[in-house]
Amino acid sequence: MSDTPGQIADLPPVAPAAGPTGRAFWVVLATLTLLVALGLGSLAYHRLHRAALADLTRQGESTLGLAIAALDGQLRRFDRLPGLLAQQEVVHELLYRPRDLDRVEAANLYLRATAQLLQASDIYVMNLQGLTLAASNFDQPLSFVGGNFVFRPYFTEALSQGQGRFYALGTTSQVRGYYFGAPVLIDDAPAGVMVIKIDLDAIEDGWRGSGTEVLVTDPEDIVFMSTNPAWTFGATRPLTPERLDRTRSTRRYADRQLTELPLVRATGPDGGPLWRLQGAEYRVIASAMAGADWTVQVLVDTAPARQQALTRLALGALAMVLAVLALVIVAQRRAALRERLALQAEAQAQLERRVDERTAELAAVNTRLEGEVAERRSTEERLRATQADLVQAGKLAALGQMSAALSHEFNQPLGAARNYAENAQLLIERGRIEDAKGNIDRILGLIGRMGDLSKHLRNFARKPNSQLSDVALTEAVTSALELLGWRLRAQSIALTVEIPPLAVRAGPVRLQQVLVNILSNAIDALEECEIRTIAVSARQQGGTAVLTIADSGPGVAPQLVERIFDPFFSTKGVGKGLGLGLSISYNIVHDFGGTLAVANRPEGGAVFTLVLPLAQGEKAA
Ligand code: ADP
Repeated sequence: MSDTPGQIADLPPVAPAAGPTGRAFWVVLATLTLLVALGLGSLAYHRLHRAALADLTRQGESTLGLAIAALDGQLRRFDRLPGLLAQQEVVHELLYRPRDLDRVEAANLYLRATAQLLQASDIYVMNLQGLTLAASNFDQPLSFVGGNFVFRPYFTEALSQGQGRFYALGTTSQVRGYYFGAPVLIDDAPAGVMVIKIDLDAIEDGWRGSGTEVLVTDPEDIVFMSTNPAWTFGATRPLTPERLDRTRSTRRYADRQLTELPLVRATGPDGGPLWRLQGAEYRVIASAMAGADWTVQVLVDTAPARQQALTRLALGALAMVLAVLALVIVAQRRAALRERLALQAEAQAQLERRVDERTAELAAVNTRLEGEVAERRSTEERLRATQADLVQAGKLAALGQMSAALSHEFNQPLGAARNYAENAQLLIERGRIEDAKGNIDRILGLIGRMGDLSKHLRNFARKPNSQLSDVALTEAVTSALELLGWRLRAQSIALTVEIPPLAVRAGPVRLQQVLVNILSNAIDALEECEIRTIAVSARQQGGTAVLTIADSGPGVAPQLVERIFDPFFSTKGVGKGLGLGLSISYNIVHDFGGTLAVANRPEGGAVFTLVLPLAQGEKAA
């Protein structure tokens, strides 16, 4: 398995990818959402606009109220003044004798002082023919004195109704003004008309700067006063010939050219009137000022209302978008969390599955191993038993091999002993007891030698004790050589033994068997050789004793070096070797905790090196 338990790349995706149908669904949904949002947006804008317009209208209404109040207050201030002035003696004197220059002058001076006092534009007195007899501006270049204003309604109305009011552009002064007229009654009969003209510019100036436009129209819908000078004398409705005729009859606007204002009337979303004029849109709030014959109108620019509606709409949309965004983010977070948890759970499950699989595999392997171990153990036991049997068999084979030579080994001393005994018999018969004694000594020596040999044989054939003990190396080598002495002598092999007094940890019988094996192999190897030497030597190396057995034989072919310790490997002919000697020796040495190795000597021949642990006492020494 190449993938690790932690890998999750091969997990299936949690959400399936959107296909073409899915995409179409999303497009339709987005379009619908957009349409709904647009619909809702325009509805909301409509409502917001209406609300803002209502605010604007309220604001305009209050402005209108203030404007009317200011205007009304101003007019009221002058309302009764002409009547009051008409009662003055100086006026009556003038009307009595209008050609009296002194009286005219007195009247003029009086009127000028009064006009200054009242802050009126002009004050003047006319006779019943409309001729101006005296005026406050008598000393001005455009003096009213001598002027006839019989065509002015304030003149006629003053005489007919006891009071006249009129607003107009001055025919002489070309200045707009409001005229208040009152009859001058002398002995309860009208003798002339007293007129006060007030300037409207100051009122107009007072309206400016409020941010709203205020204008005053006459009954013919012509603008008389306006915060915007460009609109003054403009008509808010078409100038029909009738309107023009009516206006001309009173000469209200003198010779002023009248134009129509380029305005378009409209209705706002709240049903209220709107004017579109010179690129701007105005909410119009109008109120008639009955006493003055005026309509006062307040024009409020609706741009701020639209602006406000738009701003509120944008804010609302922004809030909405933010809310939706927040919802989307929260939803996404939750989805991501869910996905991560799912992935984690899946990875965890997969990990657990893998762990289970591995555990099962390991358990199986474990059981198999346990089985194998048990099998191996029993095989090993069988092998050991077999090996013990084989050791015994090998020894017996060696004994069998040796039996011919052994019989010779025993027969020779036996024959010699027989000869000595016969000799001794003869010597005793002849009374040579001393010589006979020498013969018997030799016989005893021969018997002792045979006894030794048989003892070694017994030891060799005995089943070995598995216990280890301290064995003197010299003793082991000597007894092995003892067993093979006859062969060495038979083949005239030159033997050198150099063993220092060392003791090793080994089984004495088994060590002897190993030495016999190696030595008898060396003797076998020397059979065909001219020079026949065997050198046995030992030395101490650390905690071990190193014993080498070198011969001058042909050595071991290099390709066979590896194999000569294998069981049943033998180069000797049938009946001569079992191929077990070295394999058994190898195992025995290993049982002692030592090693056995073979090498070829440079000068020819094989050398077997036996390394054995030193005996406890030796080590300490
Ligand atoms: P066997 O002696 O029955 O053949 P061994 O296991 O004792 O069995 O020896 C295995 C082989 O090792 C021998 O057949 C021989 O070829 C080789 N061998 C052992 N010792 C020597 C030696 N000293 N010189 C050359 N060859 C040897």
